[in-house]
Amino acid sequence: MSDIPISEIDNSTLGIEPGRSQLDLGEPFSFNDASIILRAGGVDFAVHKSILSSVSPIFKDMFTLSRDDTSQEGIPIVELEESSQVIYDLLSFLYMHINDPALDDIPSLLNVMRAAQKYELTKVVLKLIDHLEKQASKDPLLVFVLACQWGFPDVARTAALHTLKLNFSTLLVSEEVTRLPTKTYQKLLVYHSKCGQVASQAIQDNIGHYPTQFRGCADDQKEWWTAYQSRLKEECRMHPLEVDYTNTEMLQHQCRSNLRCRQHNSPALIHSIMERGKKVQKAVEVGIHKVQIEFDVTDFFA
Ligand SMILES: [Zn+2]
Repeated sequence: MSDIPISEIDNSTLGIEPGRSQLDLGEPFSFNDASIILRAGGVDFAVHKSILSSVSPIFKDMFTLSRDDTSQEGIPIVELEESSQVIYDLLSFLYMHINDPALDDIPSLLNVMRAAQKYELTKVVLKLIDHLEKQASKDPLLVFVLACQWGFPDVARTAALHTLKLNFSTLLVSEEVTRLPTKTYQKLLVYHSKCGQVASQAIQDNIGHYPTQFRGCADDQKEWWTAYQSRLKEECRMHPLEVDYTNTEMLQHQCRSNLRCRQHNSPALIHSIMERGKKVQKAVEVGIHKVQIEFDVTDFFA
């Protein structure tokens, strides 16, 4: 687990808004046989010492201290510094009658992760890592940075894969990457660039040659094809996973400008050429999965 305390990662420095609005959160956690009350953000959660102690050594220690503050029923009250939403989310992971919280926004996830690590709720942390990984497609750079800061290399790899949908130049100007150690940032850039080369090579290998379909045409001139190929490769190098390799539009446009002859400027013919785009797509996917970012622990905390 990460050596960097979660408390050092602050929502405000990530430029993101605080979590969801407060709901009536205490209601599902008001058990008649409660043995402890967790008070957070003005909400009382009447829960069980035994359940919390069995999963968290921190709670266990907390509960051994004697409490002056008790409820009318004489149940000891523990004041927590977390928000009621965070405690609700944590308890939802621990009690089976409530579904796991969705946590589909990173600020909420971050708040709960911080608390889960503080109370050493290992199983909850593992579930939160899964949640973080699910956010990778939505916000790959932020998830990459968080995964690196928290020391979760597998999540970082998933997030790195999703950065291939972003333009390479985004990686150069993004605020988020300034939070990465230089070594890790360099690895991300090298990874992105290697994957771009894979895509470019896949185009060369599969649709790089002047299509036989055009041969013998009166308008036959290979220069436009070469120029079209370099532009296509350049685009794929920039964001190799954000390209539809079977899209006929770009080729159609090129054909319209360069082939006046109707026989060779036909949608059916263009379609038959771009059928090979499926092979490119496959080759890119296979090739990219062979490119790996090799992390070692010291990268994260350099
Ligand atoms: Zn022709």
